Amino acid sequence: MKIVVAIMQHETNTFSSLTTQLKDFARPLGFEDPPSGQAAIDFFNGTEMAIGGFLDLLKSKEFEIIVPLAAYAEPSAAVEDSAFDTMASRICDAVAQGCDGIMLDLHGAMVTKSFFDAEGELLKRIRKVDSAVPIAVVLDFHANLSQAICDNADIVIGYRTYPHVDNHECGIRAGKLLLRTLRGEIKPRTLWAGAPMLTHMIRQTPAKIPMKPIMDHAIEAEASGQVLAASVFGGFPLADIPHAALSAVVVVEENHEHLGKALTSELVSMAWRARADFVYNPEPLAQTITYAKTLTQGPIVLADHGDNSGAGGPHDNMAVLAEIITQGLEDVAVAPIADPQAVATLWQAGEGAMLRLPVGGKAATPSIGLEARPLELKGRVRALKHIKFEITGPMMTGFQVDLGRCAVFNVGSVDIIISEYRNEPADLGFFTHAGIDPMTKRYLLLKSRQHFRAGFEAIAKQILLVAGPGVCSSDYSVFPFKHLKRPIYPLDRDFAWSPPVITLSK
Ligand SMILES: [Zn+2]
Repeated sequence: MKIVVAIMQHETNTFSSLTTQLKDFARPLGFEDPPSGQAAIDFFNGTEMAIGGFLDLLKSKEFEIIVPLAAYAEPSAAVEDSAFDTMASRICDAVAQGCDGIMLDLHGAMVTKSFFDAEGELLKRIRKVDSAVPIAVVLDFHANLSQAICDNADIVIGYRTYPHVDNHECGIRAGKLLLRTLRGEIKPRTLWAGAPMLTHMIRQTPAKIPMKPIMDHAIEAEASGQVLAASVFGGFPLADIPHAALSAVVVVEENHEHLGKALTSELVSMAWRARADFVYNPEPLAQTITYAKTLTQGPIVLADHGDNSGAGGPHDNMAVLAEIITQGLEDVAVAPIADPQAVATLWQAGEGAMLRLPVGGKAATPSIGLEARPLELKGRVRALKHIKFEITGPMMTGFQVDLGRCAVFNVGSVDIIISEYRNEPADLGFFTHAGIDPMTKRYLLLKSRQHFRAGFEAIAKQILLVAGPGVCSSDYSVFPFKHLKRPIYPLDRDFAWSPPVITLSK
């Protein structure tokens, strides 16, 4: 059996000022062009990613695996058309050679310069090449689900965790359903519905109220065998597109469509009823740092969620660190600030050098009126090294993180890891590979919203969410939404809604 397997992942923050080209889908994997074939298999084999699950499932000799594309970019602005066309063509060309089934590891919140719904567009193009081949898709929990995705895929399932620690399991779940389809055991149908809710990501995690009972309901329906698969998506709100929303998707046998309709409708209705609990009101940054100063027992995690590469931020906004220095917090480690210019200066100065330089704040974000504002710091170069390591924590285990050339810059009692490349710190390795033991620090400043919990929750004595400014802000009033379908809660509050008529995939 010949199976086409591919990964094309990008979460698009349409307010970000960071461009997204083809090379950006290759660089995080250590390539200049997105890999394919054995190089792609070698990179993802054994990782806790959905594609790692596909590859594990297809290990038997009865399968021939074709991997035309492995593309994975850090979140940033809308993808260049030429990059998307190249990636879509590579997958479509492989399908055109003939195959029995397709397994895709996608995100679901990818936007290109020309398409609000990149994954839907990819699936439409595949369907033009082969209108019948069964397709299974795994999407990120932050997918903004669309009609085009559900119309053109036979099986759609999403992560059930945030931090995302079940990606591999999702690959197995979706892949198994595809194989059962190919063996003629099932005839899957996909149903979906969205609720007009722009939830706050800090309130989305399925581990806690309000999402927990909703996700649990989906999990129970799948576990009981009532449906083939059931998923709930928190949605990605930093996307000015018509279909940004919370949603649910259910895969059923074709003669069980009534059960699927009822469940899909129930899941989005549960979310709608809990809509007020999906709203997060951040407290002012200075107030959080003042409170942090009263705490003595570390490590205390300060999570700056306004500028986070994992949601499309430049990972270089210095407002939180400036406040920490102003208020005089001591024994702080920061990981990492992305600033290739500062890294070049520090590498030139050499280990042990004392110098003053502008750190971070190189990227302006005109969409929300945020100017570039570096922080002038005087300190000593404590260490210089190229940081590249394999994640050992529970999220994306086995994935190689490459931060490029890095410097540990010491300013008073603050150690700042400055990196060439952006990456959201979800693993203790971000500190340990820089020679810093996070257990010994009183404060750990991380640019992350939720994923840091995968690596740091177990060691943190306390976690404080810090509302730094930036393109990942939880304050939606800073974003000039134009394309979003209105009304949508909580931007609009005074409107009624009931679940729509559920649409079948075929
Ligand atoms: Zn996500």
